[in-house]
Amino acid sequence: MARVFNFSAGPAMMPEEVLKIAAGEMLDYQNTGTSVMEMSHRSNAFIAIANDAEKLLRELMDIPANYKVLFLQGGASTQFAMVPLNLMGENGKADYVNTGMWSKKAISEAKKYGKVNVVATSDDKNFNYIPALKKEMFDPQAAYVHITPNNTIFGTRFTSLPDTGNVPLVADMSSCILSEVYDVNKFGIIYAGAQKNIGPAGVTIVIIREDLLGKELPVTPTMLGYKVHVENESMYNTPPCYSLYIAKLVFEWLKNKGGVKAMQKINEDKAAILYDFLDNSKQFKGTVEKEFRSLMNVPFVLPTEDLNNAFIKQATAAGFINLKGHRSVGGMRASIYNAMPVEGVQKLVDFMKNFESQNS
Ligand SMILES: *Cc1c(COP(=O)(O)O)cnc(C)c1O
Repeated sequence: MARVFNFSAGPAMMPEEVLKIAAGEMLDYQNTGTSVMEMSHRSNAFIAIANDAEKLLRELMDIPANYKVLFLQGGASTQFAMVPLNLMGENGKADYVNTGMWSKKAISEAKKYGKVNVVATSDDKNFNYIPALKKEMFDPQAAYVHITPNNTIFGTRFTSLPDTGNVPLVADMSSCILSEVYDVNKFGIIYAGAQKNIGPAGVTIVIIREDLLGKELPVTPTMLGYKVHVENESMYNTPPCYSLYIAKLVFEWLKNKGGVKAMQKINEDKAAILYDFLDNSKQFKGTVEKEFRSLMNVPFVLPTEDLNNAFIKQATAAGFINLKGHRSVGGMRASIYNAMPVEGVQKLVDFMKNFESQNS
């Protein structure tokens, strides 16, 4: 079967070029006579892969020298616990902004380790906007402020970062890392699961400012302390070797595409194709307030449940897969991460136009 356009929210589609390189190296990685998944993580060949991955990520995100880069396991969901376990010790309290399902999960996890103050929420409108945030809303004594810059399920995006003064900003970038330019200096910690914009599930990226290390609560399990992973260069135990290797290939691919700034432009163009259509359609409607629309996840609905179902069915048959929306929003959601080519979005919009003319 020919490859389809995969609009999955995650695990998401991968660049075809990367899959081809991985396929070519599957049985014999660069004359080692083994696959990357059969290598010791202490071998020279694998250490070179890990070092290259870090070097490339630092280059792509322009990560300053006073930040450490970790490749961990457990997904973003483990970071929901690791962040408070490692930072809450300072003052026992933290500020969170509730902009959707993933924020909520981060909040409920953090409550196990300290006092959580939800400074703002958009739950009154089923999270279809980002609440306004002013400096006065944050507690200057909080250990950190946690945000979710892109809300994968509801399709919203922070268009500006809050001013939190001296309080470190912690961001769950699982669905927007490397999709647009972020100034790493504005953050204390950035974390992201890989399976949306980077590579296969299994590796989790953590970028942490050095002064935030070594403050973990005494009960913190060894594996959940950032410092131990920094001291062991992400090899305290066996890292997710194969996922990390694929991530390295994706970083190389992104660098060859011109880096994050060039990719952001492509992503803006891609999103505009879809949003322009939604804004002009009589039947398809976006669900998010315009100002806060995500570049990565685009939820939309048709006027009836029957039409939603018919659309998803016909789209799947035509090779546009995984368009079913999350149950909390309904309708459809097109996830258009870095690996989705412009052509995929253009063809989807053509398909939507056709569907609309046939059903009106
Ligand atoms: C997918 C996602 C998560 C969950 O990631 P896991 O790696 O499955 O734990 C958390 N936050 C955001 C914003 C996500 O998109």
